Amino acid sequence: MNTTRTDAAVRIRGLRKVYGEVTAVEDLDLDIAHGETFALLGPNGAGKSTTVEILEGYRLRTSGEVSVLGVDPARGGLDWKQRIGIVLQSTGETGLLTVTEMLRHFASLYPNPRDVDEVIAAVGLEAKAKTRIAKLSGGQQRRVDVALGIVGRPELLFLDEPTTGFDPEARRQFWGLIRSLKAEGTTILLTTHYLDEAAQLADRAGIIAGGRLVDIGAIDEIGGADARRPIVRWRDAAGTTHEVRTDEPGLHVASVVAEVGREPDGLEVIRPTLEDIYLGLVRDASTGSANEIDDTEEALA
Ligand code: ADP
Repeated sequence: MNTTRTDAAVRIRGLRKVYGEVTAVEDLDLDIAHGETFALLGPNGAGKSTTVEILEGYRLRTSGEVSVLGVDPARGGLDWKQRIGIVLQSTGETGLLTVTEMLRHFASLYPNPRDVDEVIAAVGLEAKAKTRIAKLSGGQQRRVDVALGIVGRPELLFLDEPTTGFDPEARRQFWGLIRSLKAEGTTILLTTHYLDEAAQLADRAGIIAGGRLVDIGAIDEIGGADARRPIVRWRDAAGTTHEVRTDEPGLHVASVVAEVGREPDGLEVIRPTLEDIYLGLVRDASTGSANEIDDTEEALA
């Protein structure tokens, strides 16, 4: 991360967005540092898209202060837009142009674009460079979306569900690409439903539910120590499962072994994943929230 700058790449204070009867975002404060990769997480309807689109300059806020690269996005001109890269959920970029033609066209809109062939290689589309975009598979078109988002060498990159439709290998390759952008100093705002992706890529995460920030913190600290405490699970001779939450799982396992005098059946040390922690936070937030929360699941069996 670039530590020499003290101003934030994104600064939000008291953001509020109301659509008719629905308050989509309420009293949101958020800073994203230059060079940071920040994951904005939350269930469907939480207010993620609304927030991100306000930052991108696509939607107007009801009230609050917003600064993106030092500019109010509601008034961002061409200079500002050239400093930002956007990978939307689905751009529907189809049509008759080939991958190379489309990227050349986009690159020409920016003052200091990346090399088009290098971008095509970075997203793994070298073999498809001369193929018309309409003829690509969904996952390949998604890579074109990503390529279009980065070809202008943005200082700040918005990535909305970037790997939807990618196979596992393509996701790994994409994560490598994002890490290299990060290493170059690009600030990244990621929204994703893949919590492992957030855990892999982000420095910090913010979880929003019902339009409010429920928690924010370093990716390996969010949720707090209690939610992160490991669980030791094992089965005794009668087949009863025992589960203990402990900060000292190794010592607990040793005491279980001493007690049963042999290898315990079904022994597991479970460290809550970001997904477990996220689901716990969202579940807590949903009590008392009127907004729909439709994709929570049980975190632990
Ligand atoms: P998310 O991206 O987290 O799924 P959204 O920002 O899309 O959440 O939506 C937040 C809330 O605002 C939801 O209740 C949604 O129905 C509502 N909403 C979003 N866009 C509009 C709109 N253009 N008009 C009316 N309500 C909207």
